[in-house]
Amino acid sequence: MRILVVEDEEAIADIIATKLRAEKYEVDISFDGEEGLYNALSNIYDLIILDIMLPKMNGIEILKEVKENNINAKIIMLTAKSGLDDKLSCFDTGANDYVTKPFHIEELIARVNVQLRVKENNKVKDILEYSDLSLNIRTSTLTCLETSESINIPYREFLLLEYFMNNREQIISKEQLYDKVWGIESDYESNNLEAYLSFLRKKLKVIGSKVNIKAVRNLGYKMEG
Ligand code: CA
Repeated sequence: MRILVVEDEEAIADIIATKLRAEKYEVDISFDGEEGLYNALSNIYDLIILDIMLPKMNGIEILKEVKENNINAKIIMLTAKSGLDDKLSCFDTGANDYVTKPFHIEELIARVNVQLRVKENNKVKDILEYSDLSLNIRTSTLTCLETSESINIPYREFLLLEYFMNNREQIISKEQLYDKVWGIESDYESNNLEAYLSFLRKKLKVIGSKVNIKAVRNLGYKMEG
């Protein structure tokens, strides 16, 4: 799962990111409000940790924009000790939780885990289904329900497939895929998205699925089945 940390104090951002990565989350960091909003609107994050006091645009404004754009990431706000008004605004605007600064990193991580577990439970199960496909999220096993053939999906391909299955029949841009799978800091040139997509298409064929990932000219890709 991918988490965005929007925090201008680099030392704090680094501690949060290091700890989250140790918990096996993918993490991106934005150091100011504008960049934070821009990244949040990419809609590739499962959770956003959002500081309130930020250069260029504050966390409450970002939260409002994120909610207006129907971004479905969970939001945990970082608030100042004295900022009772801030806390109330956070909940009014739709934050899922807040942590008061200064905080223990373990407390923040625990709250992240709670939010993401809640999100998982809301999905009800570990199985993602689309058309004749059934993807087991725990075991990374993809099964074709028509043929009962299964195949194990390696990590990067799994991230791609999961994203396609969660955004079925929508056109997804190359940038979204890169960001989702390799992170916003990644060097696009060095990652061969096409190669991974072709591995994935082959696996779909191998198990006999009718689902395909089609290229949509100039726009990106779309999963159809
Ligand atoms: Ca700050």
